[in-house]
Amino acid sequence: MKSLQDPVGCLKGVGPKTVEALATLDIKTVEDLLTYFPSRYDDFAPTDLSTAKDRQKVTVHGTVSSEPILTRYGYRRNRLSFRLLVDRNVVLTTFFNQPYLKNSIILNTHVTVQGKWDAVRQQILGSKLFTQNQERELGAIYPANKHVSQKTLRKLIKQAYDQYKDVIATLLPISLRQRYQLMERREMIKQMHWPTTPFVAKQAQKTAAYEEFFLFQLRLQAIRRAHRQDDGNQILYNNQELKEFIKTIPFELTDAQKRSVNEICRDLRAPYQMNRLLQGDVGSGKTIVAALAIAATVNAGYQAALMAPTEILAAQHAAKLADIFEGTHVSVGLLTGSMTAKQHKQLLNEIKAGTINLVVGTHALIQDKVDYANLGLAIIDEQHRFGVRQRQLLREKGENPDVLAMTATPIPRTLAITTYGEMDVSIIDQLPAGRKPIETRWLRENQSGAALSFLKEQLADGAQVYVVSPLIEQSESIDVKNATDLYEKFAEYFAPDYRVGLLHGRMSSDEKAAVMQQFKDNQLQVLVATTVIEVGVDNPNATVMLIYDADRFGLAQLHQLRGRVGRGQRQSYCLLIADPKTEDGQARMQTMTETTDGFAVAQRDLELRGSGDVLGTNQSGLPQFKVGDPIGDLKMLQTARADAGALLAAPHWDEKDENQPLVLYLKRHQLETHFD
Ligand code: ADP
Ligand code: MG
Repeated sequence: MKSLQDPVGCLKGVGPKTVEALATLDIKTVEDLLTYFPSRYDDFAPTDLSTAKDRQKVTVHGTVSSEPILTRYGYRRNRLSFRLLVDRNVVLTTFFNQPYLKNSIILNTHVTVQGKWDAVRQQILGSKLFTQNQERELGAIYPANKHVSQKTLRKLIKQAYDQYKDVIATLLPISLRQRYQLMERREMIKQMHWPTTPFVAKQAQKTAAYEEFFLFQLRLQAIRRAHRQDDGNQILYNNQELKEFIKTIPFELTDAQKRSVNEICRDLRAPYQMNRLLQGDVGSGKTIVAALAIAATVNAGYQAALMAPTEILAAQHAAKLADIFEGTHVSVGLLTGSMTAKQHKQLLNEIKAGTINLVVGTHALIQDKVDYANLGLAIIDEQHRFGVRQRQLLREKGENPDVLAMTATPIPRTLAITTYGEMDVSIIDQLPAGRKPIETRWLRENQSGAALSFLKEQLADGAQVYVVSPLIEQSESIDVKNATDLYEKFAEYFAPDYRVGLLHGRMSSDEKAAVMQQFKDNQLQVLVATTVIEVGVDNPNATVMLIYDADRFGLAQLHQLRGRVGRGQRQSYCLLIADPKTEDGQARMQTMTETTDGFAVAQRDLELRGSGDVLGTNQSGLPQFKVGDPIGDLKMLQTARADAGALLAAPHWDEKDENQPLVLYLKRHQLETHFD
């Protein structure tokens, strides 16, 4: 039986090489190929020359009615002229300095010419010639790469469509299709690739976007419903004892922190499984909120686990939490991939026995080997670094633990609720009192000398400094500063007054931890690093962040990096060195200098995204949609969300015939989502 889930290798003429090449575009199945939609269309709609203005861009389809004549003049200059019969008019057509086109212009054949209209001489100044039939008004342009060409994509998509069109089932229920006047799926796919008119192309795009949003929401909400029905633990902690613990915290919680703690504690006590997202800008104090949830959980006799995306972060959390919980019943264990077998085994035993009641670690936490005595709360830090699948695995550890996901990527509230349809959301939208906003400056590359003098001043004043460079190795294709080079330069520049350290992703976790510790202890005053320091690294005495090639980073990432400073009482600075070539890049630099509010940065990021080659777009925590635009089409996304909710809430929806394709779809996608 043919199925859209067949691997692309099933297509005729697609061998292992092509399979591998297609994988670089994330195309693995026939369905991936069929839904690999054009990023834009070349417009081949013919221009009416009788109304064309001088210098207007034109497209004409016509028949070559005279032999082309090539005239050479001057040094390497030439002109190629021929007559073109367009409708019933003969039009002179001239290409400058493209002599090689001569062989393609054959008397009495059909061609398409794109160029400019010269109204004075009544001629077309050609720029592009198409000898293949471009009868279609729109030509699909696919996002290709160096492994897979436009041409290959066109050919394979056509082939996939011809071979599989019979098994393209419509997923959307007819009631919804009628309500919004959407196409059948097969027609939608056909019109996306080979639209008959621009209008139909729009209709197909609308269908595709709605389908994508609807299926996404259906998946999230199916997960959410499953959890609401699950029997969760009632974590019945002693409120008085929790209050006593809060008194030991050396600062007053902000109102936003208090509100979040209350929301979380309400979920903990309730009989259902908590599934909550805690959103808060860098430095807004999520850790202490998490700590209070842990305290409540352990107080009620359960274990808690905290999963972080990197070993540095995990180690740092473990140290911080051990500090916070000193003198309490909470005993902290750190589980990472780089422990010795013996340490590992012993820790696993203690987790199983329950003598350790807070386990901190990387994704090692969700491996099969880890057995918990009674896991009550699972916390995921920087949750967008993990897929839904990994979150799901953690959630399935033990007896339906409550789940708290944390993210430092603020996204506007409506959008958060919509895209994280599976979760409830708590927001810390307030920084602890007394923080000074970080001063951000954008410098051109030829001003980097000034940046160095500034660094010297600050160092002399007792500050510590981060220097960030985008990649650790010279790459042939991208001209970026090399962290190792930078490190050597800085070490020489600052010797003997200040010591410089280097941190990058290729170092072992022990090496990284050692360098971090030295920086924290002020044995190193300057830390040159790649983006490994992006998340979580905490040194309140570090007050200057210098970022090279800053335009190579996305806004979300720049904001994260900037969040490494401004953590103490001193005034902090962020210096961005960049000569952005694109408007987008300039807009990003400008935004950074204008605001330190994470929600504002996020909003701007959303507006700019999709237009530039932003490094690290996945940092946003937003799922990547193929057609739909979660910002521009927010209304549609919200509608799709409501529709998906209504469908799932209808009694026996999954028994109706028309919904069977959706039932199958949900089964197939239980664990996958756009996040993965
Ligand atoms: P993030 O949300 O980025 O994880 P952290 O939890 O690391 O932020 O907190 C940043 C710093 O602010 C920490 O040093 C923490 O002790 C401190 N902090 C957190 N909450 C408060 C508060 N209410 N008042 C003062 N300082 C706070
Ligand atoms: Mg944090």
